[in-house]
Amino acid sequence: MDLTYTPEEERFRAELRAWLEANPPGPEPEPLDDWVSYGKGWQRKLYEAGWCGIAWPATYGGRGASLIQQIIFQEEMARAKAPMLINLAGLTMGGPVLIAHGTEAQKRRHLASILAAEEIWCQGFSEPNAGSDLAALATKAVRDGDHFVVTGQKVWTSFARYADWCMLLVRTDPAAPKHKGITFLLVDMHAPGVTVRPLRQINGDEDFNELFFDEVRVPRANVVGEIDQGWDIAITCLMHERQTLTFSRQLQSRVALEEMIAFASRHDRGGRPASEDPLVRQLIAAALVDSTAMQYTAYRNLTRAIRGGVPGPEGSVEKLFWSEMYQRQLDTALEIAGPHGLLLKGSPHAVTDGQWPHLFLYSRGRTIAAGTSEVQRNIIAERMLGLPRGR
Ligand SMILES: Cc1cc2nc3c(=O)[nH]c(=O)nc-3n(C[C@H](O)[C@H](O)[C@H](O)COP(=O)(O)OP(=O)(O)OC[C@H]3O[C@@H](n4cnc5c(N)ncnc54)[C@H](O)[C@@H]3O)c2cc1C
Repeated sequence: MDLTYTPEEERFRAELRAWLEANPPGPEPEPLDDWVSYGKGWQRKLYEAGWCGIAWPATYGGRGASLIQQIIFQEEMARAKAPMLINLAGLTMGGPVLIAHGTEAQKRRHLASILAAEEIWCQGFSEPNAGSDLAALATKAVRDGDHFVVTGQKVWTSFARYADWCMLLVRTDPAAPKHKGITFLLVDMHAPGVTVRPLRQINGDEDFNELFFDEVRVPRANVVGEIDQGWDIAITCLMHERQTLTFSRQLQSRVALEEMIAFASRHDRGGRPASEDPLVRQLIAAALVDSTAMQYTAYRNLTRAIRGGVPGPEGSVEKLFWSEMYQRQLDTALEIAGPHGLLLKGSPHAVTDGQWPHLFLYSRGRTIAAGTSEVQRNIIAERMLGLPRGR
């Protein structure tokens, strides 16, 4: 692991930090509809200043940034408390997949609009009977001349009701073994026959959705890669999702931890600052150990990625550890705040801005999204430790 930065990398950081200071992201509005407009505006601003999709080649609107520059970018975004980018599915999965496997026409059609957040993307992989066992997916696409006709259902599709395009996994050859005969399609979410139904979550948000496809006609030109060969593309997509997203999230968790420590110093618990309570001190120390272990694991994987290229199964270690650490961190936050921690956003007595109970509830899903903890452990056991396959 080499954590020193070259003068050029330091210049990159200074330029970005100066831009963020001149263009602060500002507070994130609510409800979700307002946040979506704010998120599109913020991403567009980044794009126009050349700070969006920095890893993408310059010919496709990026700046061909090195991995280290991408990390600096994530660090500075976390430092500036910038929001999650609205077109995350497009930026972290759709774009990279098109750059690697798309046709020139697909790249020209989609890449710039992903970067500018003009068209929002979603990931239509999971189905009611295909989550961990994704290859069991049953949404079918039948060839009809220059089109496919798509029928079926997807579920848990984040941001689908705001999305313009969906990365859809469909079964094109029902007779083939289950990992074969799957095709990766780009589907226009405004096409006739697409229905989106929001699902309300435990924290009151509605960023999940069910998707229904009723004989939706999709041009053959919207196939990414080869027909019946979509499984490998889906796996590349999931590896990008695990590793890229986890890296930025662990940085955000570190910033949140620092805020939690500051809160403990000013919050009264039994007549003295919570930070003087031995229980709180132990919990904070444990959270710092978690966070530091996570940070170095992320940097070690980064070093491996710099040497070896594409993300590999080590992304599972990061995803597993970060998602469980994040839940522990929010348990600690609520313990420190005591009864105040239960007050939701908008309550005049919410000492924590009401963020923590909201995030606490949201964090439950983190050990499920992008592959459950059990699935990550299976990947680590089989692909990293070489243990025999489970049955
Ligand atoms: C916040 C969030 C966002 C999401 N966003 C999207 C999205 O945008 N697009 C999308 O397509 N999907 C999305 N998902 C869905 C997610 O990918 C699935 O929920 C996940 O893959 C698990 O599938 P499942 O819910 O069907 O659970 P199941 O696969 O039915 O699992 C149920 C339980 O069985 C366990 N289990 C299953 N198989 C094994 C095994 N082989 N060994 C040991 N234990 C096992 C699981 O760990 C789990 O505890 C999202 C989920 C969440 C929580």
